[in-house]
Amino acid sequence: MVNDGLDFGGTCVNVGCVPSKNLIRAGETAYHANHSNFEGIRPKGVDIDFAQVIKDKKKLVATLQEKKYLDVVSDFKNLTMLKGWARFIDNQTIEVNGERYKAIKFLIATGATTNIPNIEGLDKIDYLTNVSLFDLEEKPVSLTIMGGGYIGLEIAMAYNRLGVKVRVIEFTDRVLRTQTPDISEALESQIRKEGIEMLPNFRAIKFEKQGNVTTIHCKCPDGSFTKIVEKGKVVIATGTNPHTSQLGLANIGLELTKNGHIAVNEKMETNLSNIYAAGDVANTPTFVYTAAFEGKIAVENAFTGAENKADYSSLPWVVFTDPQVAGAGMDEAQAKANSIPFEVSKLELKDVPRAIAANDTKGFIKLIRNTQTDKLIGARIVAPEGGELIQQLSMAIKYGITVKDLADSFYPYLTLGEGIKLAAITFGKDVSKLSCCAS
Ligand SMILES: Cc1cc2nc3c(=O)[nH]c(=O)nc-3n(C[C@H](O)[C@H](O)[C@H](O)COP(=O)(O)OP(=O)(O)OC[C@H]3O[C@@H](n4cnc5c(N)ncnc54)[C@H](O)[C@@H]3O)c2cc1C
Repeated sequence: MVNDGLDFGGTCVNVGCVPSKNLIRAGETAYHANHSNFEGIRPKGVDIDFAQVIKDKKKLVATLQEKKYLDVVSDFKNLTMLKGWARFIDNQTIEVNGERYKAIKFLIATGATTNIPNIEGLDKIDYLTNVSLFDLEEKPVSLTIMGGGYIGLEIAMAYNRLGVKVRVIEFTDRVLRTQTPDISEALESQIRKEGIEMLPNFRAIKFEKQGNVTTIHCKCPDGSFTKIVEKGKVVIATGTNPHTSQLGLANIGLELTKNGHIAVNEKMETNLSNIYAAGDVANTPTFVYTAAFEGKIAVENAFTGAENKADYSSLPWVVFTDPQVAGAGMDEAQAKANSIPFEVSKLELKDVPRAIAANDTKGFIKLIRNTQTDKLIGARIVAPEGGELIQQLSMAIKYGITVKDLADSFYPYLTLGEGIKLAAITFGKDVSKLSCCAS
């Protein structure tokens, strides 16, 4: 196993999932200590020791990196771990630190790195990315985050709640633009409510830095130009690029997609019979659990002749904002593009008893069914802790559960999950007219 750049364990544990989710939870704790949904509960404010929060995050990352990565492989008898960049010489040989190593089969799992847009002056402003931001113990005065995708939004909410003034610049007309507009709207309205400055349809065209002050020259939605002054830090979160540049792929003729990912089929095979790819470097979903799954099936396919395939038609995913955004299967746009006869049921959280009792009704549950078979084909949830609901909907899609099955099932009264039953019932009825514990 050859690794360089990030520590062993790669993005997720060191600079991705783990640090971001830890800081999001810290931010949530601060937020709830300051904001109450109950008039009779009046918070008295919160004391945030930012440096301590980051020190604790570092400790957590170090512990998990050791326990879940280094310790796990430490007793693998036949494993040699090399620190260095791997570069293909031919399709049987790589070079690492000037030494050549031969192998019968290879698995490329080199991940992805932040896409740094080609904008004048950006390379001269000491910008941050997820690799550097999460380690800053000194609280930034403010942050301008370039990019309103999931990474930018998770960072925006966490840092804003930890007391940093945050602005998000997004060059398209809305955040999370791969999702339908109702999801972007629900999320954006909460983000603005928390005091984050959102600038959709703003395009940065030049960066300048003098002392600690960065000037961002932007084209505005109406075509005029403006200068945004950032006295804190600029964070780049404008997507990711697959990490292939140092691999010497031109030496072996490995096929890439037009976006630069290693092209794999559902068995993680590349165009070269002894080379497999998995994870963010390949043209597959970019999550740690899909990366791990792909690595496993690639190795089984390579060495046992198994014919394992990845099927992502019911893949669940979560964006850890508040409310969270979660999905599985198709949304209505994808159903339409695939010419599937479909119907949508959308239940606002203000109709879900759990949300009503908690005085927290931001969001909705949306189910998409095939009108010919009544099978659930997709779901989208925008809700506090909505990510906890998505796995059951992913299973329902995977195992062909019908909307009638969902509507006829028992769900404990006053759980958020009950919203799924109510959304299923909503295909045929007006849920606001149902009595308590509706059937
Ligand atoms: C801020 C953030 C938050 C995220 N949150 C989540 C989340 O909550 N849930 C989730 O499922 N996913 C999350 N992700 C995505 C997740 O981290 C990635 O999908 C996952 O880490 C991909 O794993 P990988 O093994 O493909 O690549 P990586 O984990 O990136 O590992 C690749 C490794 O290969 C090294 N490398 C690259 N080129 C070479 C070379 N030529 N030679 C040697 N070594 C090389 C790299 O430096 C790195 O160490 C998040 C990502 C980010 C950035």
